[in-house]
Amino acid sequence: MGLRPISELVRPGLGELQPYHVPVHPGVIKLDANENAYDFPEQVLRDIFGAVDAQTFVRYPDPDAEDLRVALSDYTGVPAARISVGNGSDELIQNLMLTFAAGGKVVIATPTFGMYAIHAVVAGAEPVALPRNADFAVDPEAVIAAAARPGVRMVVLCSPNNPTGNTIPPEVTAEILDRTGTVVVLDEAYYEFCGETAVSLLDRNPHLVLLRTFSKAFGLAGLRVGYMLAGREVTEAVGRVKQPFNVNAFSQLAATRLLKWRPVFERCIEEIRRSREELLAGLWRVTGVTAYPSRANFILFHTSLPGPRVYEGLLERRVLVRLVDGPDLPGCLRVSVGRPDENAAFLEALEKTVVSRW
Ligand SMILES: *Cc1c(COP(=O)(O)O)cnc(C)c1O
Repeated sequence: MGLRPISELVRPGLGELQPYHVPVHPGVIKLDANENAYDFPEQVLRDIFGAVDAQTFVRYPDPDAEDLRVALSDYTGVPAARISVGNGSDELIQNLMLTFAAGGKVVIATPTFGMYAIHAVVAGAEPVALPRNADFAVDPEAVIAAAARPGVRMVVLCSPNNPTGNTIPPEVTAEILDRTGTVVVLDEAYYEFCGETAVSLLDRNPHLVLLRTFSKAFGLAGLRVGYMLAGREVTEAVGRVKQPFNVNAFSQLAATRLLKWRPVFERCIEEIRRSREELLAGLWRVTGVTAYPSRANFILFHTSLPGPRVYEGLLERRVLVRLVDGPDLPGCLRVSVGRPDENAAFLEALEKTVVSRW
């Protein structure tokens, strides 16, 4: 029997997907991934390494991440039995797609985080884009109507939304939940920067799922820890799909310890919020720039130049941002809020880029 071309053996539907590409530019000011710009506090790091010292890693990690879920219960007010942790919230997004959406459709309010559509396709679900309004607000009537269409099993919303930075008002979320029969995922990855959450809606809405992460406000992107708050039935269903040892022992321990240091992070978050407002004001002062207010740790903006030219101009000046330019967001880029010196360097590079092209 002849060898068949690999391209014919790849599962239909995966053809359009590209491997996730992260540009690497050593030595640049990195404002492209919304990580926490501040070095991990020394005392927290020492505390984590002290705890690690007392432990070996010969055994498999706790599949239920019990200690971490108890600490998260204290932080969120949600019972530990309704919390699941994942290898980043990315893994939880994938598990939700596998549990609910595979073989059906998932409505995604766009423009938004690209991983929802990618994980939908990987899981064998069909992503259906539901455009937000011109001001990036979610129209509850449009979401409710889209969710009611045949084959839809899940709706994905993000608040504050990446990359637009705006939140979905709690009454809009409540309205959508009241009149939607599918699973509704609300990604609150940037919750700590705005303080607005739909946690209080969990008790009345067994089909609501909230996603959170340690990657942004808590500065733990390198260790991959995310978590999910949901009803018992959703938690149990996703538990069937989850890999048993999905979150490694080091990450469980680090995330658990870190929650004891919340006041330290709260000061840092306050600093980032202050810098965000300064950065927004600075952006508005640059010729031709339009910048959008944000409740997260990044800002969406565009200039009168094509997006790729601004991206390249910044990179030539050693500043890396995220190009989110596309039909939804023409000419747009997203810049993460960095430390004050980084934000100043970015603004200077942007001014030079814009002026050099006039
Ligand atoms: C960064 C981000 C995440 C975080 O993903 P992790 O896998 O936990 O690092 C999730 N959702 C959104 C919208 C994000 O921007």
